Amino acid sequence: MPIASSSSGNAYVVENDGRALLIDCGVPLKEVESRCLEAGVDAGSVEGVLVTHNHSDHISCLRPFLRRHDVPVYANALTADAVAAATGLDAGAFVIFENGQVFETAGFDVRPFSIPHDTPDPVGYLVSSHDGTYFHGTDIGSPVESVGRMFSLADEATLESNHDVELLLGSGRSETLKRRILGPRGHLSNDDAADFAAHYASARLKRLHLAHLSGECNVPRIALKTMAETLARAGRADIEIDVIG
Ligand SMILES: [Zn+2]
Ligand SMILES: [Zn+2]
Repeated sequence: MPIASSSSGNAYVVENDGRALLIDCGVPLKEVESRCLEAGVDAGSVEGVLVTHNHSDHISCLRPFLRRHDVPVYANALTADAVAAATGLDAGAFVIFENGQVFETAGFDVRPFSIPHDTPDPVGYLVSSHDGTYFHGTDIGSPVESVGRMFSLADEATLESNHDVELLLGSGRSETLKRRILGPRGHLSNDDAADFAAHYASARLKRLHLAHLSGECNVPRIALKTMAETLARAGRADIEIDVIG
């Protein structure tokens, strides 16, 4: 179940047996297409887009992508309304799900779950195939137990490791923005992400991708080091870690 991403914006590819889903679409079309190729699939074989929430770094390219690839967009009702308002997409573009209810698409079982973040009804996803279960969680303001329970079911995971707290506090960002990022509906710091992973990873977890790194307030090397040291202290140096975005 290979996943691809890169340094800015969000578009993640989940592939199994040549069938693929996109999670979010916040990078230019060309970039989405190259991420699909990295994951070993043609963008034309993407069968649907799962949307986590309506912030622009997750949906800015949704409309151009759908113009090129006519596939359903999966979202809960509040997110679909907000995405439709932001992008001009028609309500008919969306397949509406309920958080917590598993649905089947592209050969995967998909389970959306609530996450704490400052949009109407943000979610993460568990995506399962016969090959295993993938956890997708970015934009998580607090390391809450309900999200941890989902993480503990994963064989492979993408987890936000957004910022280094010192770099954020020392940055030129406004106090309001700093408070938002650090708040309970903002983003996970490197330390938060590492403590969360060490606490909730089950013996199943083999690969962990760190994602949604802030360009200004994080450094991939620091995020990796924090995660590696924390997992090693928890006796989980076996988990493969990389940075994908
Ligand atoms: Zn967000
Ligand atoms: Zn985001």
